[in-house]
Amino acid sequence: MDLISKSAEVYNRITIDGEEFFNHDTCRVMAGPCAVESRDQILSTAEMLANMGISIFRAGSFKPRTNPYAFQGAGEEGLRWLEEVKETYGMKIITETSDYSNFHLVEPVTDIIQIGAKAMFDHALLKAAGASKKPILLKRHFGATIDELFKMADFALLEGNRQILFCERGIRTFETSSRFTLDLCGAAVIKNNTRAPLILDPSHAMGYSFGVPDIANACVAFGCEGILIEVHHNPAEAMCDKEQALDLKQFKQVYEQMNSIGLAIGKQVK
Ligand code: PEP
Ligand code: MN
Repeated sequence: MDLISKSAEVYNRITIDGEEFFNHDTCRVMAGPCAVESRDQILSTAEMLANMGISIFRAGSFKPRTNPYAFQGAGEEGLRWLEEVKETYGMKIITETSDYSNFHLVEPVTDIIQIGAKAMFDHALLKAAGASKKPILLKRHFGATIDELFKMADFALLEGNRQILFCERGIRTFETSSRFTLDLCGAAVIKNNTRAPLILDPSHAMGYSFGVPDIANACVAFGCEGILIEVHHNPAEAMCDKEQALDLKQFKQVYEQMNSIGLAIGKQVK
């Protein structure tokens, strides 16, 4: 199958502020809550994750939702709390821009521009991100082929950006007992056809916390360059994606297991 994409030419080593965060010897863990809810939630979760050695904090302050009545993130104010995380704990930030209207707010704050599954086809957003100097994490839409993912990436790459990370986060199949189905075959195609780091997201794929640790371990064994994983200090109270969030104790345990698996396959999990 012809899967020609500019992503075959991109950087396979991705740096943030001059430090290499993604390469083929590393599996970088990006952990944090789905949504930015409050200053307390963000700062206390970040502190605990930083103490475990996590270097990239994830949390969305502009959340694309399938239900217009659901919480959509703390918005611009939440970005200020993410800046505080950077200053206080020295962590890097990955936060999403849900559509073009908030790109100009998110871009100056985030270290990695997250374009979520539902925004994968937003051409204005892709082009704006492509004109930025910051790495882009592009999540595959749950109904998109790999070819469509690559073509959407090219909308950004044609603007000059060379730093892209592809994220497989589950596709929709006939199966309804998990939220989505993690497409590891598609992930293998991404690996084979591009030099870009491959990121896997066990949280959104599974949708239920009981399955997330096993899948996260499988993702490390698969040999991805990064994992996006949702962690909440009190999942029962989470305002977004509560069923899939690990609590801090569960996360600590799986992070240790992921480290052991990384050792076995020659990738440093960090
Ligand atoms: C997220 O990472 O919280 C998110 C919204 O994921 P996705 O875009 O894959 O649905
Ligand atoms: Mn989420």
